[in-house]
Amino acid sequence: METVESIDWAHRSQAWTGSAPGWLAQRSRARAFFRLSAPALVCLLVFTRLAWSWGRRAHEMINARAVENLPEPLRSYFRERVGYLVEHASDPDQLTANDPSERPHHYTDADADDTYPFPRLEQRFVRERGRPTAAERRNGDVIWQIETYTLRLSRDFKFKQWDAADRDAVFVAHYAADLTQPLHTVVNYDGQLTHQAGIHARFETEMVNAMGDELRLAPRPASAEPDLRSRIFRELVASYRARLTVFDADRRAVAARSYLDPGFFPAFEKLAAPIAEERMSAAVSFVSSLWYTAWVRAGRPPLPPPSKEEK
Ligand SMILES: [Zn+2]
Repeated sequence: METVESIDWAHRSQAWTGSAPGWLAQRSRARAFFRLSAPALVCLLVFTRLAWSWGRRAHEMINARAVENLPEPLRSYFRERVGYLVEHASDPDQLTANDPSERPHHYTDADADDTYPFPRLEQRFVRERGRPTAAERRNGDVIWQIETYTLRLSRDFKFKQWDAADRDAVFVAHYAADLTQPLHTVVNYDGQLTHQAGIHARFETEMVNAMGDELRLAPRPASAEPDLRSRIFRELVASYRARLTVFDADRRAVAARSYLDPGFFPAFEKLAAPIAEERMSAAVSFVSSLWYTAWVRAGRPPLPPPSKEEK
């Protein structure tokens, strides 16, 4: 089951990677949607959960913009590394191919054992500040992962481990960006409970890849967070609150037509692009804030000077 899905996913990722595809022919889009909507695949999606994240292009855009969203001197430091940060933006997703235990690190289904505004989870995560229980891991522990890797990055800065810092910055950014995708916060992550199977990829990959730079991001400035867990939890709640807008855009776009209809995708883009822009802007602000927080927590250590080639 997983193999079929993985192949399809890898194939589509490759097809979209590397260059800005611009607008696709509607026929290609319809074919892509057919693959997602085929009944057999729908069944697979219900029982198998991929380590979905924002699509590769979204992660690349978020990392590149997060660098520019930093205050100095961190902005110059990360600018030197922006090629690495963009190229490796989806590395954490690659890990899932060999390690199924990596998958729950990419989401936290807030509504699995709690209800909005999630007082139980807030108590556990923000006030008790414990490690995740087995049940919490099963529901997805991205909120813990974000903290873990932000603290690692802080340690890397403190001890001048610049190579480790590059890698940990990638993982901070990936997990943080995943949390800002509303469908990474709900049990109904792929519309499987509301007859909207395939919505996950339609929103985070198909649409973002097709629109690319047409999406207008307006991130708030990076801020150093004195209480890391509070910030992470606020991002979880904000992301969850945006879920209905995504489901509603999909429902309205498909009303009176099918997902195979050439009119679906333009309608979906029109309705869902604003929420993608808002969520990706939140991701840029969140990622840059975490990088900045790691550096501030390390005591604002001096950063290595620009390489000679850059001078
Ligand atoms: Zn991911």
